[in-house]
Amino acid sequence: MRYALVRDERREAEPGLSGTCPGCGQAMIPKCGDYRVHHWAHRGARNCDSWWEPETPWHRNWKMRFPKDWQEVLLRASSGEKHIADVRTEHGLVLEFQHSHIRPDERRAREAFYPNLAWIVDATRRKRDRPRFEEGRRSLRLTAWQGIYTTPFPDGCFAQDWLDSRAPVFFDFSGTEPSGPRAPADREVLWGLLPGRAAGNAVVIAMPRRQLVQAAHRRPQILASRRIVETIDALFRAQARLDARRVAVRSSWRFRGSGPRRRRARF
Ligand SMILES: [Zn+2]
Repeated sequence: MRYALVRDERREAEPGLSGTCPGCGQAMIPKCGDYRVHHWAHRGARNCDSWWEPETPWHRNWKMRFPKDWQEVLLRASSGEKHIADVRTEHGLVLEFQHSHIRPDERRAREAFYPNLAWIVDATRRKRDRPRFEEGRRSLRLTAWQGIYTTPFPDGCFAQDWLDSRAPVFFDFSGTEPSGPRAPADREVLWGLLPGRAAGNAVVIAMPRRQLVQAAHRRPQILASRRIVETIDALFRAQARLDARRVAVRSSWRFRGSGPRRRRARF
């Protein structure tokens, strides 16, 4: 973890400090080696939060975009179950930064535990993720709204593990590559898969990293996922009804042999 309590104060790991875990109260020792990001580890082998994963520079890069008080927040359910959220904003939005593989049952458990959750996934860990997206993004169709797309083939764009998530999932395809104003524009964009489907289509959002961070600072949700999906769903259904009516009208013209698209009978 990034923070432990040292005399009731949240401190980052430094050689010589000793702290306690804000989750379970056990002793923690600072790990300040050369190979991994500096962090705190429980003195015993086991971490008190079974959902916790070893932190990477990618995790740190993301967490650092948020105030210290919002990072590693201990949350307790009425059942007594407790977990440490990577980031919990003052608006109650939880952000989980996921680098390693997550089992479907654990993903669902976390989505249930954090009702207002957005995932940010390191999509550089697996070699296939980026080429799959480059190929699959050809199926994206732009909607009437800038940066919002639909696709009937989300499985062609994103890893199977995330397709039925109940929370929005933002895929970070640039990982810890340098970002910032001088980086290529596409490095600054995260691709989000929204929960639910619009008439069978997945709704996909392209969102610049900075915009996502700003939204998380200002609002209880990064975007109104549900409303977006419902609106596009209603549009698709209205369009389908219109198309069905056009086909019906056209075939009735043909049948009666009248109307503007009348064709000369062939013999
Ligand atoms: Zn602990």
